[in-house]
Amino acid sequence: MDFRLTSEQEAFRREFASWLENNTPTDFDPQRFRNYDTHEDLAQAHRDFQKRLSEAGYAGMNLPVAYGGQGRSTMEEMIVTETISRTCPELRAPGVITFGMAAPTILVCGNEAQKAEFLPKILDGTHIWCQGFSEPNAGSDVANVSTRAEKDNGHYVVTGQKVWTSFAHLADYCILLVRTDPGAKKHKGLSYLLLDMTLPGVEVRPIRQITGEADFNEVYMEDVRVPESMLLGKEGDGWKIALTTLAFERAMGDVSKAAAYETNVERLIAMARQVRRSGRPAIEDPVFRQDLARSYIEVMTLKYNGLRNFSNQLEGGTPGPEGSIGKLLWSEPFQRINEAAVDAQGPVGQIAEGSPWSVQEGFWQFGFLRSKGSTVEAGTSEVQRNIIGERVLGLPKDSSRAARSKE
Ligand SMILES: Cc1cc2nc3c(=O)[nH]c(=O)nc-3n(C[C@H](O)[C@H](O)[C@H](O)COP(=O)(O)OP(=O)(O)OC[C@H]3O[C@@H](n4cnc5c(N)ncnc54)[C@H](O)[C@@H]3O)c2cc1C
Repeated sequence: MDFRLTSEQEAFRREFASWLENNTPTDFDPQRFRNYDTHEDLAQAHRDFQKRLSEAGYAGMNLPVAYGGQGRSTMEEMIVTETISRTCPELRAPGVITFGMAAPTILVCGNEAQKAEFLPKILDGTHIWCQGFSEPNAGSDVANVSTRAEKDNGHYVVTGQKVWTSFAHLADYCILLVRTDPGAKKHKGLSYLLLDMTLPGVEVRPIRQITGEADFNEVYMEDVRVPESMLLGKEGDGWKIALTTLAFERAMGDVSKAAAYETNVERLIAMARQVRRSGRPAIEDPVFRQDLARSYIEVMTLKYNGLRNFSNQLEGGTPGPEGSIGKLLWSEPFQRINEAAVDAQGPVGQIAEGSPWSVQEGFWQFGFLRSKGSTVEAGTSEVQRNIIGERVLGLPKDSSRAARSKE
C-alpha cells in the first residue's frame, strides 16, 4: 500500500488540523503533560471535546450514520485520530477503552438495539466505558474469571470482584466478563455483559499507583441486577467475544500511539538541549545520542507496523494475533525513552513535578513511573511473546498453558 495521502486526504487533514487548533480548550497547553488537576476535570474536558468533535462531523468517521458516525472512510478516521494524538492526546486518555475496545466490540458483536443505544452516546461523549476482565485470580489467564452471573426473572444477578479496572471511577458503563455456567469447561461457561456502573450493588475502590495517581480500581459487585437485554452475543459466548475485545485492544492505535511518541521524541530533543551532562548540553553526549537514535527508530518501527495492520484493515481484515507485535513495540520502547530522558537529566532526574528544579514539569519522571505498568496492561510482554510464537509463527504451545487449556 502507498501510505502517502491523496490530495483530497491531505486537504481533509489540513481542514481537520485547523478545526482542532480552534477547538482545543482555550486553557489547554499541549506542552504540559497534565492540564487538569483532577480526573473528573479531565473526564469532563474529554466529554466536552468529544461532543464538539461529534457536532462538527468528525466523530466516528468510518462508523455508520445510523449509529452516530459519519459514514465516511477508515482513512479519514485515521487522519482524525492521528492528528489528535500528535497535538492533544491527553484529551483522549479517558476514552481509550471506550473507543479502542467497547465501541468496536459492540459494533461487531452487538444486536441492533445495543448498537443504536450505545454507539451514538460513545461518539458524542455522553458515555465513558471501562473494561472488567481482570480479577484477583484471572489476569493473563482471563478464562479463570469467577465473577458469577445467575439468571433471575429477566435479569442476571452479578456477584464478584474485578481488579485493575482503568477509569472505573469515571465510567458510565463496563464491558464485563462473567461466569454464567460454573459447570461448563472454563472457556465455555463465560458470558459478556454491558454493565451500567450506576446500578445498586456496584462499588468502585480506587488503587493508588507509583505515579501517585489512582486511575485504576477494584470493582466490587454484590447482587447487581443486570437486565438480560445487556447480554452481548449469546450466553456462553463470553470467551469468543473477550478474544475479539483483546484483539482490538492489542491492535489498538499503533499509528496514533506512534504519532504521540513522535511528539515525545521532539520533546526529548528539546529537553536534551536544555539540560547539561558532564558540563555540556546532553544532546552532545554520545551515549544519549545513541538512546535518542534508538527511540526514533523504535517510533518509526511502531508507526510502520501500525500502517501494515491498518492496510490489512482497509482490505477488510480484522485484528488478529499479530496485534501482539504492536503491543510489544509500544510498551517496551515507552519504558526505554522515559529511562533515557531521566538518565540524561543526571541528578535532576530524581526531581518530579512541582519543584522549581524539575525539567519540563516532571513530564519524564511521571512517564518513567507510569511506563512500568505498560508491559503488564493489555497483556504482559511474556504473554505477547507466547501469542506471537504460537499463533503468528506457529511454534509449539507453551507446555504449562497446553496442560491448563485441557481443563
Ligand atoms: C496500568 C494497568 C491498567 C490495567 N487496566 C485494566 C483494565 O482496564 N481492565 C482489566 O480487566 N485489566 C486491566 N489491567 C490488568 C492487566 O490486564 C493484567 O494485570 C495482566 O493481564 C496480567 O495479569 P496479572 O496481573 O494477573 O498477572 P499474572 O497473570 O499473575 O502474571 C504474573 C507474571 O507471570 C507471567 N506469566 C503469566 N502467564 C504466563 C505464561 N503463560 N507464560 C509466561 N509467563 C507468564 C506474566 O507475564 C507476569 O510476569 C491493567 C493492568 C495495568 C498494569
